[in-house]
This record gives sequence, C-alpha cells and structure tokens, in this order.
Amino acid sequence: MVSGQRQGVVGFGKRVSFSNKSIETNSDYLQRSDPWPFFVLHDCLCQALGIYCFALNLLFRERSYFNMSNPVPITVAHGDGIGPEIMAATLHILKEAGANLEIETIDIGEKVYLAGNSSGIEPSAWESLRRTKVFLKAPITTPQGGGYKSLNVTVRKTLGLFANIRPCVSYHPFVETKHPSMDVVIVRENEEDLYAGIEHRQTEQVMQCLKLISRPGSEKIVRHAFEYARRNNRKKVTCFTKDNIMKITDGLFHKVFDEIAAEYPDIEKEHWIVDIGAAKLADTPEVFDVIVMPNLYGDVLSDVAAQIAGSVGLAGSANIGEHVSMFEAIHGSAPRRAGQNLANPSGLLLGAVMLLVHIGETTVAERVHNAWLRTIEDGIHTYDIYEEGKSKEKVGTKEFAEAVGQRVGQTPQTLKAAKYKSADEIPPAAKVVKPTQTRAKKDLVGVDVFLDWTKGSANDLGDALSKLSGDGTKLDIISNRGVKVWPGGHAETFCSDHWRCRFLSDSESGTVSHPQIISLLKRFADAGFDFIKTENLCNFDGERGYSLDQGA
Ligand code: NAD
Repeated sequence: MVSGQRQGVVGFGKRVSFSNKSIETNSDYLQRSDPWPFFVLHDCLCQALGIYCFALNLLFRERSYFNMSNPVPITVAHGDGIGPEIMAATLHILKEAGANLEIETIDIGEKVYLAGNSSGIEPSAWESLRRTKVFLKAPITTPQGGGYKSLNVTVRKTLGLFANIRPCVSYHPFVETKHPSMDVVIVRENEEDLYAGIEHRQTEQVMQCLKLISRPGSEKIVRHAFEYARRNNRKKVTCFTKDNIMKITDGLFHKVFDEIAAEYPDIEKEHWIVDIGAAKLADTPEVFDVIVMPNLYGDVLSDVAAQIAGSVGLAGSANIGEHVSMFEAIHGSAPRRAGQNLANPSGLLLGAVMLLVHIGETTVAERVHNAWLRTIEDGIHTYDIYEEGKSKEKVGTKEFAEAVGQRVGQTPQTLKAAKYKSADEIPPAAKVVKPTQTRAKKDLVGVDVFLDWTKGSANDLGDALSKLSGDGTKLDIISNRGVKVWPGGHAETFCSDHWRCRFLSDSESGTVSHPQIISLLKRFADAGFDFIKTENLCNFDGERGYSLDQGA
C-alpha cells in the first residue's frame, strides 16, 4: 500500500513536502513451508505490486509537485498598532496548517499616510491587489485630523467589495457570553449609504451627509445574503431597515429584499425595523440566522453582535467583490495594546479561514479552524477572553499562535467542529443582476431650493418667496429641517438658518423645464437670496420620487 500524506507548506510560496511511507506488502499469510510454486508466485506478485506502487509513488510526487509549484498568490498588509503582531501569529498558524500560499507584502496605513499619501495606500499596492485578487489585511490606524481618508472605505469602494460578511458566534462554555447559542451572520452592504462620504457644510448651523442607496447596490447585497444562506445551509435571512422614516432610500432596500427573497422559496425571510431589530438582536440573538443591512446599520450592529457573542477580538470578516476580495478582523488597530504581545489574533485568523475557503483551500481552512476551536476549548486564552475559573492559561499573542499551531490536526471535543464544503460542492454564485434596461418615464415636476437665510420668520420668508412664483413655477411649501413651517407653520417649531423652499409646476402639463428652474434661480439671486443647493423633484412612471415634509 502506498500512503502519501501532504505535510504542509515548508515556507509560503515554497514547495509542499510530501511524505510517502514505505511500500508494504502484507505477505505474512504465506508461510515458507508452502510448496515452492507458491513462493515464486508470491515473489512475482510482490515485485509487480512493488513496481505498481513505485509508479503510484512517482505519480503522487508529481501531483504534489504541481500543487507545490502553484501556491495561491495573496497580498498581505501587516497594518498598524496590534496589526503586525496578530498578522505574524496568523501567518504562523497558516504555515503550520499547510496553507499553500505565495505572499506579496504591501505597506498601507499610518506609515504611508504620514509619508504624505492622504489615501494611505501606494499605487504599487493597488497593482498587487489587482494581480492576486485576494487580500489579507491587518487593521490600520487612520491618523486623526489632517484630511486623511479612511483607507478601509477607500479599498472597499475602489475595488467594489460590496459585501461584508461577519459571522458572530458564541463559544460557550469556553468564552463568557450572555448568549450561549448565538450563531448569527451579518451581511453588511459595503459601498453605499452614508458611507458615500458626500458631506457639505451648507450654512453656519447646518451640515449635511448624503445617504445614497441604489437599486443595483441593494440587489447585489441582498442576493449575496441569500446565496450565502443557501451555500451555508442557513434557514432564514432577515432584513433590517428604517423604512418607516426613510421611505425612499431604506424603502428601496426593503423592496429589493422582498423581490429577491421571492426567488429563494427554500429560505425563510423577514424584515425588522432596525431599532427594534437591534434590540431583539442584543436580547435574543438566537432568533436570527443571516441578517442583511445597509452599510451604517451593518457597521454598528456587527460590532454589537461580535461583542455580545464574546469579544470583538474574536470576529473575522470577508469583504467580497466581483474581482477582488479582502479578509480582516472586524476590530481596529487597538494602539493602546500594540507591541505588548497582548492582542488576540483570533479575529484576523478567522478572517484568514474565510480567505482559505474563498480560494478553495477548504481542507486547510478546516484544519486551522478546528485547531483554533480546540485551543479555545483547552482554555488557552488571551487577556480579552481570559476568565479566572473558566480559562486555564492566560497567554500572549505569540504563545496563543503557538498553541493553535500545535493543535493542527486536532478537532474540538465539545464545540461543533468546522466542516467546509469542497470547492466543487459549492454551487456557483448567482450572477449579479445588471440594472434594468427599461428606464422609468421621468417627469420633472418642481424643484426644492435650499437657502441660507436668517432675516426673519417663516412667514416673512413665505411672503418674500411668493413674489418669486411665476414663469411656470409656484411656491408650494417651506420647511426647516424637514418640518413644514409655511404655510400654516406652528410657533413652537425651532427654525435653523437652513430652509427648503419647494416650487412646483404651475402649468397644465404638471411639469417644469430646466430653463424654468434656471429662471427661478435667477429671480432668487436678483432678490438677494443665498441659495445653497437645489434638488429637482421628479416623478418616475407617475410615482412621486421625493419625500413630503413632516406636517405637510
Ligand atoms: P479598536 O477595535 O482598535 O479597539 C477598541 C478596543 O477593543 C481596544 O482598546 C481593545 O481593548 C479591544 N480590542 C480590539 N481588538 C482587540 C484584539 N485583537 N485583542 C484584544 N483586544 C482588542 O477600536 P478603536 O480604538 O476605536 O480604533 C483604533 C484605530 O483602529 C483607529 O485609528 C481606527 O480608525 C482604526 N480602525 C481600523 C479598522 C480596520 O483597519 N479594519 C477598523 C476599526 C478601527
């Protein structure tokens, strides 16, 4: 019998060694006392078997050679703060588990920011990411002030990493948690919402941040959530939005959720308003399975979910794009803990497990994950999860990594062992649906003109602006921070210096033209008003595409 066993990566990007035990032929059942023809036959058979096994041996060596010569290239950034320590720990464990990786290291983060690059990433780093398409990233520090852009947001948006997958799992009874059976996966939209980063100071008193939700963006993330659920045998997908207030933006996300959920009849679906959904998640996470959310709610609630599961230090995340994917811990660079061999590398390690699954190295992913589970079970804990009486040994980052490395090949005894489907068992991802080709009929029916104005009351403004009606537009309503203040406002309503003045079509067609809006703005300018922006009011296939004021 030939037995070949892959021993693991000798060094990243180097060959995998392959050990072949000696060829064994079980001939004990033939005794020397048997007649000689049996002897001759036996020896011939043994020789033939030996040659056969030798050939097999060569074949296996050859196959291993091909594996060895084709390590999967990935890009690695060691990050800032605790980043270098937890990355070293993670890479040590991957190596011990036999990950066949070829690592390209890039510099990103604080060093690059402080060298004068406000995006925190050099052009050569983009080239590496485009080449390898797989990125293992330690957390980085965004320097305070100075106009530095968040590197995380830049990378996610530039590379189109639209889906952020964050499993939040309890490791009861080994890690303290109020929710022993919690096993929730948060699927966070990663590119849109308030993270578009479009902000303006518009008046002395008022700042604005634009919340953008698109149909293709919502379709991509919701479909990804359902595909994730199906591939991972999850039974339910829940959607959190605030569409009772943001009826157009969150309303679209909810609508798309309902449309796509109908394509997955095998998976239960439900929707919660985010505030009560968050309360339920914090109180009874067991009722949730996969939760899909717009960007901001997902950011906040995945940290909450990770923390109530045990610790933010335990959660990894995958940022999936159509071309490139990035894997990381959900926590930041924890600068106060840096350089002290204290940090828990588990979040980054579990991010790396997701990376291994993503590149099809599911066997190694299982080995790493199970060794890690076994270490947690054995009570070998970093400070953040260490608890007297529950934990056995408080260890540093390095010692924790060594303990996991020593347990490669072992499985947990109480916790559920990790089992990943092999790449060919996983159905291909559904293609992201492209935006519909038939565009709705769009009618321009009015305009909101926003003013910076401090010269009187709402009624004073209403009187002054009524005089600007004409040439196909008519003043309809004035609001302040979304509350109607003219006509018929209430004396108690607080008014800032930021006014929205809605002019609607005054013509029979019900529409206005761009020249009519320009003419209106000219009248504003001639009357000495400081308009700070306009928003066109449109109907799409006859359906109103703008919100009404509160109190309107
Ligand atoms: P943080 O997540 O870095 O740390 C908060 C606290 O959580 C730490 O003080 C520490 O007590 C604990 N903690 C976090 N990770 C831990 C670990 N692995 N082991 C043990 N304890 C851990 O959040 P912060 O302090 O708000 O942010 C620090 C920096 O990280 C900021 O510059 C921020 O911009 C950056 N950040 C980066 C990322 C990223 O790179 N993905 C994400 C969030 C924050």
